[in-house]
Amino acid sequence: MELSRRQFFRICAGGMAGTTVASLGFLSSFSVHAETRQYKLLKAKETRNNCTYCSVGCGMLMYSLGDSAKNVKESIYHIEGDPDHPVSRGSLCPKGAGVLDYIHSETRLQYPEYRAPGSDKWQRISWDEAINRIARLMKDDRDANFIEKNAQGLTVNRWTTTGMLCSSAASNETGILDGKFTRSLGMVAIDCQARLCHGPTVSALAPTFGRGAMTNNWVDIKNANVVLIMGGNAAEAHPVGFKWVIEAQTKNDATVVVVDPRFNRSAAVADMYAPIRAGSDTAFLLGVIRYLLENNRVQHEYVRHYTNASLIIRDDYQFDDGLFSGYDDKKRQYDKTSWFYQLDEQGHALRDETLSHPRCVWNLLKNHVERYTPEMVNRLCGTSVADFTRICDILASTSVPDRTATILYALGWTHHSAGAQIIRAAAMLQLLLGNIGMAGGGVNALRGHSNIQGYTDLGLLSTNLPGYMPLPSEKQPDYQTYISQITPPALGVNEVNYWQNTPKFFVSMMKSFWGDHATAENNWGYDWLPKWDRLYDVMTQAELMLEGKINGYIVQGFNPLAAFPDKNKSSRALAKLKYMVVIDPLATESSNFWQHHGEMNDVKPEAIQTEVFRLPSSCFAEEDGSIANSGRWLQWHWAAAEPPGEALHDAKILGRLYMRLRELYQQEGGANPEPLLNMRWDYKDPYDPHPEEIAREGNGMALADLYDDKGQLIAKKGQQLSSFAQLRDDGSTSSFCWVYCGSWTEQGNQMANRDNSDPYGLGCTPGWAWSWPANRRILYNRASADPSGKPWDAKRALLHWDGKKWAGMDVADYSQAAPGSNVGPFIMNQEGVARLFSIDKMNDGPFPEHYEPIESPIGTNPLHPDVISSPVARIYHDDIANMGKADAFPYVATTYSITELFRHWTKHALLNAIAQPDQFIEIGEALASQKGIAAGDTVKVMSKRGYIKAKAVVTKRLQTLTIDGRAVDTIGIPCHWGFEGATRKGFLANTLTPSVGDANSQTPEYKAFLVNIERA
Ligand code: SF4
Repeated sequence: MELSRRQFFRICAGGMAGTTVASLGFLSSFSVHAETRQYKLLKAKETRNNCTYCSVGCGMLMYSLGDSAKNVKESIYHIEGDPDHPVSRGSLCPKGAGVLDYIHSETRLQYPEYRAPGSDKWQRISWDEAINRIARLMKDDRDANFIEKNAQGLTVNRWTTTGMLCSSAASNETGILDGKFTRSLGMVAIDCQARLCHGPTVSALAPTFGRGAMTNNWVDIKNANVVLIMGGNAAEAHPVGFKWVIEAQTKNDATVVVVDPRFNRSAAVADMYAPIRAGSDTAFLLGVIRYLLENNRVQHEYVRHYTNASLIIRDDYQFDDGLFSGYDDKKRQYDKTSWFYQLDEQGHALRDETLSHPRCVWNLLKNHVERYTPEMVNRLCGTSVADFTRICDILASTSVPDRTATILYALGWTHHSAGAQIIRAAAMLQLLLGNIGMAGGGVNALRGHSNIQGYTDLGLLSTNLPGYMPLPSEKQPDYQTYISQITPPALGVNEVNYWQNTPKFFVSMMKSFWGDHATAENNWGYDWLPKWDRLYDVMTQAELMLEGKINGYIVQGFNPLAAFPDKNKSSRALAKLKYMVVIDPLATESSNFWQHHGEMNDVKPEAIQTEVFRLPSSCFAEEDGSIANSGRWLQWHWAAAEPPGEALHDAKILGRLYMRLRELYQQEGGANPEPLLNMRWDYKDPYDPHPEEIAREGNGMALADLYDDKGQLIAKKGQQLSSFAQLRDDGSTSSFCWVYCGSWTEQGNQMANRDNSDPYGLGCTPGWAWSWPANRRILYNRASADPSGKPWDAKRALLHWDGKKWAGMDVADYSQAAPGSNVGPFIMNQEGVARLFSIDKMNDGPFPEHYEPIESPIGTNPLHPDVISSPVARIYHDDIANMGKADAFPYVATTYSITELFRHWTKHALLNAIAQPDQFIEIGEALASQKGIAAGDTVKVMSKRGYIKAKAVVTKRLQTLTIDGRAVDTIGIPCHWGFEGATRKGFLANTLTPSVGDANSQTPEYKAFLVNIERA
């Protein structure tokens, strides 16, 4: 007999009642009905979902009541961890455990509201009023400002004056609609939370390995022998994922090492902790690389066969005194031509397998890291030579084939003006140790928000398209130019070079966008996509608002006032908007940016002329759909209740707005209506697209009968595709996002799979959800076997060559080429190997280099005093004057998260607000005593941009470090409070942070900037 969980509860509860009653001797009808306490979940409906906060993606069981009768709404009244979930196994951290209070928060929005220009209050309006008015504002702005042709007469079809911030916790299905909505309108000023969190991860890992995602997955951490946690604090920020670190430590005897400016919660359970100055991680990692090379503790066979160590670099590539060759001082940019291989007549990269050629990557790397001696690491980072060399030795212990180290990091590495280069250094380190593609290895980017991986996959960034394809630029005037520039040639004889299939991914995406209207004759609608002229990342958006060049802003599940750097600048920028539309479940600081909240938001409502709309949306618990966790698992979840009051699903809000815009263009005409009216929006109810039909579209389908090379029918017209290998560039397939192809096949919704069996015991659960690409659980897994196809480590075998094919526990990340076929394991790279030298893919250098944070506590760079900070970091002219110097702001500040709160959401949940009611900052005992600050005092922390006030926590966790001969103290600033929510009112921490960003991803430097402090 098969029992559902619900039936099981009923039987158990009944059984318990019967036993108890019998044992007490009460056999009359009295007891059973009148006295036995009801099990509280007895009548509940149980629904599976995933936590909406961080990217661990913990499983949740939600219990709701409501008899589904007309006008009766289901209400969720209990949530607990899903014991079947392979990662969380029933656990929830304090954030997940408090999620019921978020769902029922007093600050959940119930109905649409409007704030008139200059007004100091909200007024309730109907959905029709809201949609009609917003559509009118959008159309008027678009018609007035749409750019069909640029100054050179090239068709660019872009709309720059209204922007959109896309959510990071909404489902992929909402994300697909966001993509179709924005791009068909020609919007270029779109971005998502990835810009502010893991943008540098993609910028660093894709140029190294070929893809920009976490290489392994949460459970796989248990297979590691060494765990390095640096640039993150997994115990605090990803508590349930962290259980796999403890599993490695207790069951696999792993050594856990934490390197961090603070002795944090991860450090508290680590085997070794070493302090480091915030903003000096690249120097530390390059020092480790130097140690490995100096001491010959490298997995040589792996390095020779699987990295570009042997490839020969052009003679004109140079690194001199802090600058790489090709630097243009005026443009603050590099010409990257010299950062490339020497090629033979066939265009293949030259190699020297002996590694003796002076221009081969191996020797250039040796020269480059030579300066990073333990003493130099000590001088730059403050880490003692003894601690540093001990950590080098621990990591080096994994240079043998049968030991692996994993590296876990998060925003501690991404939030720097040279953040991508820190991650590059970590990736290079792991390659030298032979730890990529291995179980228990990898560079594991612990993503932040629950679906920011998904929104990155879907390309919801200003210059991206789905599946990591770029949005066309003005430099690509026609389809042929564009597609040839983005389709790389192979740099080796037999290399897979999987991006050679780009035309198939692109054409299939265009068929998903524009259906029958996208034809070979019109280049699949190429000109309907906007062409960008400049970056439109969030910092640029703020800049353009201040210049009066962005008039309208749609903010979906995002809190820019709390998230963008330099809150006061953001506040001035938002106040310049003509209209702003906030789609959110909660009353955020951003929707109330025009309200006066004392020192915390010192604005004059009457002076702000922005029309603001606040549209209440559903939250995760009230929607069906998929989200992608950090390990790339697309997990489908189900709604347990309807949204409260008049709140609507995001898809319905977008559907109604989109259809209203279409109606207006049909009635009135206007600027470039074609892409909007031709967009494939053929949902059963176009005003309310259903997640399931969008998810099927995301996967893709056959638009004609498809045959393989041998003439066998592989998919009939109208059938779901089973793999991106079936995609075509002749218009016979559609797929919104090629990496998601395989997620919803003819066999059904693979993301809804819930078989948690782990047949090999290594934490690989291929039957649970669906992992992109192709349900692979560990990327680059071909590298887990030696060149002959034998696993480097039999205990951790992922794949092996069985004489005919690649077999094993994971889907091979490889072609079916036999060992010895000269096909490299990094199939997304043109040269088939991973890059120690990243050729021309990054904006700030093919090797990492230590640059000081833009606000440096030492005001120099001991390696090259003429080039102190990154010479190509993103900084706008007017912001330069807003950068502080150490004489007035002598202390390093670093922002971070705490376990009980998630960014600026959980302060709306009562349980979490009770756990952490009051804003605080952390300072070390030495600094506190110098400043006369006692624990619990209210202090004022000031940067060049503003100040916050908070309670002081005086701690041993932060210590004074000696950097370049001077004492440097650090102040820790949790980022969670604001002037909305259930906590006590507080200041937004980004009031302090500088508007400066990484050269590759423009991600702001929240982790290392200068402040001063005093008792308030
Ligand atoms: S916040 Fe993260 S670790 Fe905590 S329950 Fe949610 S998904 Fe799990």
